[in-house]
Amino acid sequence: MTARVYLDHAASSPLRPAARAAIGRALDLAGNASSVHAEGRAARAVVEAARRTLAAAIGGATGGIVFTSGATEANAAALGAGGRMLAAAVEHPSVLAQPGVEPLAVDSAGRLDLQALATALEERDVACVALMLANNETGVLQPVAEAAALAHRAGARLHVDAVQAFGRVPLDVAALGADSAALSAHKLGGPKGAGALWLRDPDAFHPLLRGGGQEHRRRAGTENVAGIAGFAAAAGAIEPEEADRLAALCRTLEAEACRLVEDAVVIGADAPRAPHITALALPGMAAATQVMALDLAGVAVSAGAACSSGKVARSHVLAAMGVAPALADSTIRVSLGWSTTSADIDRFLDAWGDLARRRRKDAL
Ligand code: PLP
Repeated sequence: MTARVYLDHAASSPLRPAARAAIGRALDLAGNASSVHAEGRAARAVVEAARRTLAAAIGGATGGIVFTSGATEANAAALGAGGRMLAAAVEHPSVLAQPGVEPLAVDSAGRLDLQALATALEERDVACVALMLANNETGVLQPVAEAAALAHRAGARLHVDAVQAFGRVPLDVAALGADSAALSAHKLGGPKGAGALWLRDPDAFHPLLRGGGQEHRRRAGTENVAGIAGFAAAAGAIEPEEADRLAALCRTLEAEACRLVEDAVVIGADAPRAPHITALALPGMAAATQVMALDLAGVAVSAGAACSSGKVARSHVLAAMGVAPALADSTIRVSLGWSTTSADIDRFLDAWGDLARRRRKDAL
């Protein structure tokens, strides 16, 4: 049997060997990281070392990292203080679903309209602007530094969802001017259910989870030591040349896909993009059909963002970009990661090329 090809890293990436080893070691630690005895101190040492690794990786102060159960929680905590909040219409649902968030228009490439942001900031007091660095469906990068400057001029905070950017594009929260950032372990080869919120000013933060004094009272609940250890190990295992390698693979994939299928469309092709995500449309064939057929051929991709309900709904990202519904419905997401090889790309292109040959215009 031929091995399967996994090209859904934007949904979740396979565990890196270094993360698996760190998790295994941490699972054998008996202590609670809040306990004062030797066993507790051993667990605490793992958590604090991870905090230093992650802070260094994003250019933030170590004391600003708050470990969470993932980026959904980090986004909710960052936006939980209330007040009027603005977010690009293409943000992840964990941002858009927060009470008080108003969506802002994006252009046809999915980039925030900075003029719309400036106008909305002038209209009324805004507590926070949320803007992702890289979009999870298209990889398109947002003008975060420019938005941060506008937000600060109006007295608002800037929260950046850096989930898809971390490890793929240079990430320096200080240089971006961000006030907070959400990170997730499993998108870069760490475990699922672990993440972090970075805060520029941790003392001004209102915790979402209250109770125990963990994380300097910023996130109650016993620390997930194994998850935290795996997160830091995954971040530490990112090769310096990994992003360039993925960018080259993605460029080949897109160029070959467009050569094989003359009406294929790469969504957001001309915008600056993260190196690991391609939103690829095969006009006339429903994305769900492509995903199922590719799955049968041994290739895992997704129809837009991984859908938590298991159903394929029309993408709010592509809708906000003004992509025609028929084209949006025929768009799949192919996403690469640390374990992707050029043989994987060839297998995808073979299977997708076969599909294109079989497609019927009335399939949608
Ligand atoms: N933000 C973005 C851009 C994402 O892609 C995801 C994952 O789908 C999340 C937030 C949520 O992350 P988590 O799965 O850690 O809750």
